[in-house]
Amino acid sequence: MDVAIVGSGPNGLAAGVVLARAGLSVHVFEAGDTVGGGLRSRALFDDDVVHDLCSAVHPMAAASRFFREFDLGARGVDLLQPEASYAHPFPGGPPGVAYHSLDRTCAGLGADGPRWRRLMEPLLEHSGPIVDLFLSDQRRLPADPSVPWLLGSRVLAHGTGLAGRWFSGRVAPGLLAGVAAHSLGPLPSLPGGAVAMLLGHLAHGSGWPVPRGGSQRIADAMAADLVAHGGVVHTVAPVTDLRELARAKAVLLNVSPRVLLDLAGPWLPRRYRRRLERWRYGPGAAKVDFLVSEPIPWADPELAAAGTVHLGEDERDVFAHETAVANGAPAAHPFTLVVDPAVADPSRARGGRRPVWAYSHVPNGDRTDPAELVRARIERYAPGFSDTVLARRGIPAAELADYNPNYVGGDIAGGAVTVPQMLFRPAPRWHPYRTPLGGVYLCSASTPPGPSVHGMAGYYAAADVLRREFGIRDLPSLEPDHPVRAAEGMR
Ligand SMILES: Cc1cc2nc3c(=O)[nH]c(=O)nc-3n(C[C@H](O)[C@H](O)[C@H](O)COP(=O)(O)OP(=O)(O)OC[C@H]3O[C@@H](n4cnc5c(N)ncnc54)[C@H](O)[C@@H]3O)c2cc1C
Repeated sequence: MDVAIVGSGPNGLAAGVVLARAGLSVHVFEAGDTVGGGLRSRALFDDDVVHDLCSAVHPMAAASRFFREFDLGARGVDLLQPEASYAHPFPGGPPGVAYHSLDRTCAGLGADGPRWRRLMEPLLEHSGPIVDLFLSDQRRLPADPSVPWLLGSRVLAHGTGLAGRWFSGRVAPGLLAGVAAHSLGPLPSLPGGAVAMLLGHLAHGSGWPVPRGGSQRIADAMAADLVAHGGVVHTVAPVTDLRELARAKAVLLNVSPRVLLDLAGPWLPRRYRRRLERWRYGPGAAKVDFLVSEPIPWADPELAAAGTVHLGEDERDVFAHETAVANGAPAAHPFTLVVDPAVADPSRARGGRRPVWAYSHVPNGDRTDPAELVRARIERYAPGFSDTVLARRGIPAAELADYNPNYVGGDIAGGAVTVPQMLFRPAPRWHPYRTPLGGVYLCSASTPPGPSVHGMAGYYAAADVLRREFGIRDLPSLEPDHPVRAAEGMR
């Protein structure tokens, strides 16, 4: 065995694809009974209706260099765009709707429409270099010299106490605050501003799509490519001690620092071990899956076009609740994300039943079953929602790690999204993927470029392994060998 990979999340699979395509013998060891980590989907209440257990919406998979080259569409995985990428209802007023079309979005924002355009249009014009900068290994200068100014000025305007002053109304700042909240931390903040610029402009660019049939389709396409190039995937194969993998010439760990400590703590040099021990985890996600009998009855029908709906009153409220949660205080009305995947993918609704995916931000390690809280949050903006619920399952943040040990205390970002932790992920090293143990590498969301389904941590770690352990400098092509027509992939 040339390479052992522990974990089959998007980064573990991306690393496996690169290494197997380079001609190495690759074995993936996955604790779960199916591949995918944060990409898993399965039926929960009803054999026909598939629920996304973790990720559901894929702006980063649509934009990342790994997936652009891997070409999901040519492998039969369609990324379906909702008419509106996201929306945000406001009590006592019309909602904010970020349509895929920038023109339509601006038209709905009244006096703030031209300001929204001035914010987003230059980002869209430089979208490629912006995405490449965010999804870089953070060890090189941006290829496009105008990007630092474009981004820097906007992050300062929207990630500090100045946030909201760019606009005159409450809708546009509320929309942007909901996007900043994807950074899972106190707001306003520089990471929050950066996330708002990245995801905010992608909403009008490559979009916030859902994969037809569910996120599992992405993982399955990656695993199929790995196997087609000689890789082997072992499921129900938890690794409990690094010594179990002594036969491999190189080991890639698709795990968080806490799991690395469990696997190899005693052999790590003291300094590196202490960095991992001091690694801070961020707020938790409390997830709820609903089986419902009809589309969410939003009070304002305009919300029905949105793939993702953010529930969080206005900008002030979102900032206050996110900050409270980050400081460990449960919020009475936590920021909640709601996705009805059948809005973009009608195939997800079967026999009058469909899935609704939702999670609230709560303090790390929170033990409360979120099902009732999230039901009430949705009911507030969609009266009658409760009557459509046929079944539901809530997972407290504290229990998310039972499903995937990387989600420590429910932190789905692999570590608090702070400026130091984004630059030194998970320790200050020029080669962030290398551990001090010879041949042992990290390749999870706890390494650059951080959380989300983009595969780039796996891609960079694999490139480092190829170069350093096997003397291979040229990265293999990721293009599909036998592209399938989209229609075939749907069957
Ligand atoms: C509720 C929720 C909603 C989310 N929504 C989105 C979204 O809509 N869009 C988005 O882009 N991202 C979303 N994310 C985040 C996204 O899922 C993660 O950032 C991403 O999956 C991280 O990928 P990864 O490859 O680093 O690791 P993971 O996906 O965490 O996979 C790691 C794998 O390693 C396995 N593993 C760990 N330890 C061991 C061991 N010792 N032995 C064997 N196997 C092991 C785990 O079982 C798991 O399968 C969400 C996450 C959650 C939990």
